[in-house]
Amino acid sequence: MIARVTLELALRKEFDYFIPAELAEQIDVGTRVQVPFGARKVFGCVTSLAEESAHARLKPILRVLGAQALVTPGILKLARWLSEYYCCSPAVALKSVLPEAVRHEQAGWRERLYARALPPAGELPKLSKRQKEIWHIAEERRELPLQELIELAGTTAATIRRLEDKGLLAISAHIAERDPYAREHILPTQPLPLNSAQAQSLAAITEAMDATTGTGGKQANGNAPPNRTLLLHGVTGSGKTEVYLQALAHALEQGRGGIVLVPEISLTPQTVERFKARFSSGRLHTLVAVLHSNLSAGERHDEWHKIRQGRARIVIGARSAIFAPVQPLGLIVVDEEHEYTYKQEEAPRYHARDVAIVRGQMEGATVVLGSATPSLESFHNCQRGKYRLLQLPERVDEKRMPIVRIVDMRTTVRKGKAPLIFSPQLQEALAQRLERREQAILFLNRRGYSSTLQCPQCGYVANCPNCSLSLTYHRQDQKLRCHVCAHAEPAPMLCPNSKCRNPEIRYSGLGTQKVEDTLSRLFPRARVVRMDSDAMKRKDDYRRLLGDFRSGKIDILVGTQMIAKGLHFPNVTLVGIIYADLALHQPDFRAGERTFQLLTQVAGRAGRGEVEGEVFVQAFTPFHPAIQCARRHDFISFYEQEIEFRRQLQYPPLSRIALLTLKGRNEEKVQFSAEHLKLELEKKVGDFKDLILAGPAPAPLRRAETYYRYQIMLRVPRMSELSRRLAELMQGLKLPEDISLTINIDPVDLA
Ligand code: ADP
Ligand code: ZN
Repeated sequence: MIARVTLELALRKEFDYFIPAELAEQIDVGTRVQVPFGARKVFGCVTSLAEESAHARLKPILRVLGAQALVTPGILKLARWLSEYYCCSPAVALKSVLPEAVRHEQAGWRERLYARALPPAGELPKLSKRQKEIWHIAEERRELPLQELIELAGTTAATIRRLEDKGLLAISAHIAERDPYAREHILPTQPLPLNSAQAQSLAAITEAMDATTGTGGKQANGNAPPNRTLLLHGVTGSGKTEVYLQALAHALEQGRGGIVLVPEISLTPQTVERFKARFSSGRLHTLVAVLHSNLSAGERHDEWHKIRQGRARIVIGARSAIFAPVQPLGLIVVDEEHEYTYKQEEAPRYHARDVAIVRGQMEGATVVLGSATPSLESFHNCQRGKYRLLQLPERVDEKRMPIVRIVDMRTTVRKGKAPLIFSPQLQEALAQRLERREQAILFLNRRGYSSTLQCPQCGYVANCPNCSLSLTYHRQDQKLRCHVCAHAEPAPMLCPNSKCRNPEIRYSGLGTQKVEDTLSRLFPRARVVRMDSDAMKRKDDYRRLLGDFRSGKIDILVGTQMIAKGLHFPNVTLVGIIYADLALHQPDFRAGERTFQLLTQVAGRAGRGEVEGEVFVQAFTPFHPAIQCARRHDFISFYEQEIEFRRQLQYPPLSRIALLTLKGRNEEKVQFSAEHLKLELEKKVGDFKDLILAGPAPAPLRRAETYYRYQIMLRVPRMSELSRRLAELMQGLKLPEDISLTINIDPVDLA
C-alpha cells in the first residue's frame, strides 16, 4: 500500500510513501507520520491511500505519531477546500485545522506528581514539627499534587520525600487533565419556556436538523431538503442564546454534537457559563469544551482531546473552533455572524462563518447564523432564497428598545476652540444618572489621549517612522505610539522640527484616555473606569472590572469596541457614543455598514433592566443613513439603501473580491512589480465574465511596519474558479526576492 502525505512544510505538493507492513494496521487517512525528506526527517499527515504510485523506489514511512488519527476525514476534506478557495498551500490549511498544541507532542498529556496519604499501621511515628504539618495537610486532602503540597506547607520536595521513606506518603505520577474553568461553580439551568417568536425559530431549526440526520442531506421522501443555513435576526436581548441552547439540546438528542462560534471578545466567562450550566446535568449532559486564544497550550491540548474522544460534544469557541473534531456534527451556531473578527488576517485567510457553511454542507449539519445586525452578505442570501430568515423582533419580557437621541455636534462648535467632548445634553444626562445611582457606558472607538500631535506654528505632525500614519498621544506614560506597529517614543515638550522648536505644540483629536480625564474633571465624585487594550494588560483585568461594574462599584465605564458586545448590565440606563462618525470616515466600502452595526450594538447595552434606557449619539454628520437607521433600530431600511449602493458600484455582496497586495521596502520596485502582476493577470484571467480589475494603487495604508504596499483588486460574480486560476498564476509568477505577494479572498479589511 501507498500513503500520500502532505508535509508540514510550506509546500504545495503531496508525496507518496511506502507503508511498511508493521505499520499497516496503524495508518489511515488522517494519521500523523514521520517520513524521510531529503536528508531530513519531517512530520506530515496522510491525506489519502493508494494502491500504486507513479513514482518508483518510494521511501518508507518511519513512524506513526499518536494512537488516534488526529485529523478526521471530514476535517481533511474541509482543509482541502480551505486551501483551494483561499489560495494557500494544503500544508498551511492543515496547520490551521489542528491546534499547535495538538500537533506538537511537548504540550501532550501532562503527567504530574501526586502525593497520597497512607494511613499508618499503628501509632504515628515520631515526626518533626514541619513533617507533622505536611502529614496533616496530606491526610486532610487524601491526595493532592506534590507541587501544591510543597506550596501549602511551605516546604521542599526533599522534606516530603522523607515522609515517603517513613511509609506515610506515596508519591506517583498521574495524568492530570487541565480544566481552565475548574474554579468556577456552575449551577445547572433548565430550558426556559419560549415566547412564540423563539418557538417558531427553534421549530424551523430543528426541522432542518431532522431533515439531515445521518443522510448527508437527502430526505427520505425525495423532496429537496429545507434550507440548511438559517439566519436568526434578533434584536439585542431578544433571546437568541436561549434558542441556540435548545437547538443544541436537540442535536444531543439526535446523538450528534454542536459547535458554537462567538467572537473572541464576547467569549466571556458569563457566556461560557450559560452553556456549561445547561449541559452540566440531566439526561443529555455532556462536557462543554472551550477553545479560545487565552488558553495555555496544555489546556488547549486537553480541551481538543476531550472533543476528539467524544467526551465533550458541545464546543464553544472563537474563530478556529470551527475546526473542532466534533463527530457526528449536527449543528453549528455562528453568533454575531457579522463580526469582522471571524476573518483570519494571516494565511489561511479564511472567514469562519463561510467555513461553517461549507462544513455544514459537507457533514450534513445545520448552520444557524445569529445577529442583531446581519452582514449584508447573509441578509442578501436570505433575499435570494439561499438561507432561511428567522426573526425575533422584540426583546424578551417586552422590554422596550432604548430611545436613541442624535446630538448634532456642529451646533456645539465654537470659533477657535476645540470641539466639545460632551455636548450639554449628554453632560446633563450623565449628571442625572449619577444622582439616581444608575450606571452609564461611554463609547469611543479610539484609544489613547489625543489622535495627533501638531505644531500650530510650522505645521509639523508627528508621524510613525515605519508607517504612513500619525502617532497617538498617550498621556499616562507621556508617549507617542503607533497603533499599527506599536512604535513608541517619548512625547516631545517642544516642536521636534529643529528650525521651529515651538513650545506650544498642540494635541488635537481625542481618545478614551481624554474622555476619562475630562469626566473626572466634570464629575469629580463619579467612579470612572476605562476599558481598552491599553488598560487591560493582564488576563484577569477584563473579568475583574466587569465584576466591579456589575456589583455597582463603578458608575461610568469608558471604552472602545471592547465594551460594545454582548454585555448585559441591568442597571445601565445611559449609553453615550462620543463620536459616531469616526467609523464613517474610513476609506472602505463597508464604512456605513460598520457604523450602523457599531451604533446598534452599543445602543443595545442600554435599558436591559427595569428602567428604560436612553442613548445619546454625538455626530457631526447626523443625517447620514447609517446613523438615522440605527436611531430607529431599523435594519431593513438600512439594508435596502445600502444594497442599492453596493449594486451600483458592484461591491459585495453583489460581487466577490480577491485583493492582491504586494509589499516591499523599495517603493518603486513594489510599484513596478504590481504593474507586472497586472499584465500577468490580464493574460491569465482577463477573459473572465464580468471581471472588474482595479489598480494597482497604493493601499489605504501605503506604508506599514517599514513596508510599502500596493494593491490590485479583482471583482467577479463567483469566486471559486478565480481562486483556482490565481493559485495557478502564483505558481508560475516570478517576483523579485524582496517583494512579497499576499492574496486575500473575500477580504474584510481593505487597508
Ligand atoms: P440575545 O442572545 O438575543 O441577546 P439572550 O438569550 O441573552 O438574548 O436573552 C436575554 C435575557 O432574556 C437573558 O437573561 C435570558 O435568560 C432571558 N430569556 C431568554 N429567553 C427567555 C424566555 N423565553 N423567557 C424568559 N426569559 C428569557
Ligand atoms: Zn507604525
